[in-house]
Amino acid sequence: MNEPIISMKNVSYAYEKKIVLNAINFELPKGAFMGLVGPNGGGKTTLIKLVLGLLKPTQGTITLFNEPIEKFKERNKIGFVSQKANSFNKGFPATVFEVVSTGLTAKIGYFKFLNKSHKEKILSTIEKVGLLEYAYENVGNLSGGQQQRVFIARALVSNPELLILDEPTVGVDTNNVKRFYELLHDLHENNEITLLLVTHDTGTMTEHATDIVCLNKTLHFHGKPEDYTSLTENDLSNFYGHPVNIVSHNH
Ligand code: ADP
Repeated sequence: MNEPIISMKNVSYAYEKKIVLNAINFELPKGAFMGLVGPNGGGKTTLIKLVLGLLKPTQGTITLFNEPIEKFKERNKIGFVSQKANSFNKGFPATVFEVVSTGLTAKIGYFKFLNKSHKEKILSTIEKVGLLEYAYENVGNLSGGQQQRVFIARALVSNPELLILDEPTVGVDTNNVKRFYELLHDLHENNEITLLLVTHDTGTMTEHATDIVCLNKTLHFHGKPEDYTSLTENDLSNFYGHPVNIVSHNH
């Protein structure tokens, strides 16, 4: 197995006294495309916030790129696309180019001028997500799926090695979900980006992911998509805490 990019040892987290993650042992290997699934309230967003350093574990240790998280400084190695990545209002006063350029802030600082290579990098990243013709449009005029790709470009522009996406397909129509997975597939295969994707969309995700992790306070499953898809409705119902009907996604 490749070296882990994220490693969690015995990690627990509680909001006040409510334990939402309990003794998690987990590794994300370099080069993986990992799908993180589980019921609402299962702790997926909390786990991501721990990785992003927005929360500190109540117990246990987290290592990022072989560094204890407390010492980890190379934040630009991690790109993040949040759940709200497709909710710009019409009239939001920034172009696609401007929004994507803010992804370079960590590298070049606020209020610094963009040089030619920054501008080229911004445009090539916009091109990678298929939006070059909209580079100077206001983001508010784009569709939800296109706005989401703007956010992916913003996360990609600083060349992260790991891209984390929290439920990025919520509210995106079927065609754009398909394009979105094609983009992730390309980033993973051709750009060697490690991916951690929180999703409810298990059908499409299992066609692309290399690893699946199921989280409901503790880790219930960590394995390959083919092992996940062979879980029975009974296994999944126990995990989700309510009956689950498996919908086949064979094409
Ligand atoms: P998921 O992303 O899997 O839906 P979350 O990590 O958002 O799960 O939430 C896990 C649990 O933690 C839920 O029971 C949720 O209500 C609770 N929780 C999340 N954020 C907070 C918070 N800021 N304060 C208190 N409880 C929270």
